Formats: sequence, C-alpha cells, structure tokens
Amino acid sequence: MYDKNNIFATILRGEAECKKVYEDKNVLAFYDLHPSAPIHVLVVPKGEYKSFDDFASNSQNVADFFKAVQKIATKLELIKSGYRIVTNHGDDAGQIVPHFHVHILGGKKLDKLA
Ligand code: 5GP
Repeated sequence: MYDKNNIFATILRGEAECKKVYEDKNVLAFYDLHPSAPIHVLVVPKGEYKSFDDFASNSQNVADFFKAVQKIATKLELIKSGYRIVTNHGDDAGQIVPHFHVHILGGKKLDKLA
C-alpha cells in the first residue's frame, strides 16, 4: 500500500521543502539532499506510485514521465557531457523512499556500474 506520509509525498504537497529544478502537471524534479554526483536530481511523478512496478503498469505514465526526464536532462545541460538515469525498486535495490522516482546523475565521469 502507498504510504501518504513518505518524504516525497510531503514534498509534493508542499509540506516539506525542496530545491526545485522543474515542474509540470505530471512531475516534480528537485536536487537530491545527499548528492552522489555533482548533479543529482530526483524526478518524481505526482501520482501515488510506490515504485516502478506499479508506475509502469500505465504506458501513458511511462511515456509522459520519460519525456519529462529528457526535458530535465536538457535543462541541466547534460545531453552533451552525458548522464545516468537510475531507479531503485524494492529491498534488493536499496529503495529508501517508497514513492517511485528516477535519479538523474551527471556532472562528472561516473564510476562504472560493475
Ligand atoms: P532511493 O529511494 O532511490 O534509494 O533514494 C532516495 C533518495 O532520496 C536518496 O538519494 C536520498 O538522498 C534522497 N532523499 C531522501 N530524503 C530527501 C529529502 O528530504 N529531500 C531530498 N531532496 N532528497 C531526499
């Protein structure tokens, strides 16, 4: 079940602060509080989705969301230098916040995944 009190839900309701990068009717993007790269932005859909698994069941969601991710990467001037997009689903991936989100990481040469 979706936890309405998770930190991203409170940010979306305007009850907690964030350093906003982009907003439209479907998504909010803001800087990560504990960045793992010089540029570390979180992109969060406005609906109540616990993780990628329930979010991805609606293909229109996915199309609109990833179009916004591309727009945000452009706004952050990461297209030429490159960037990584990551989402964590569940325990094994180490998902901390139970509201689906994508991390955009860039601004340096990132470590290899393995
Ligand atoms: P994940 O759930 O994918 O593991 O990552 C959650 C991310 O949210 C972490 O990178 C963490 O630093 C970030 N985070 C946790 N709480 C806050 C917060 O209150 N504000 C912001 N801007 N980021 C947060």
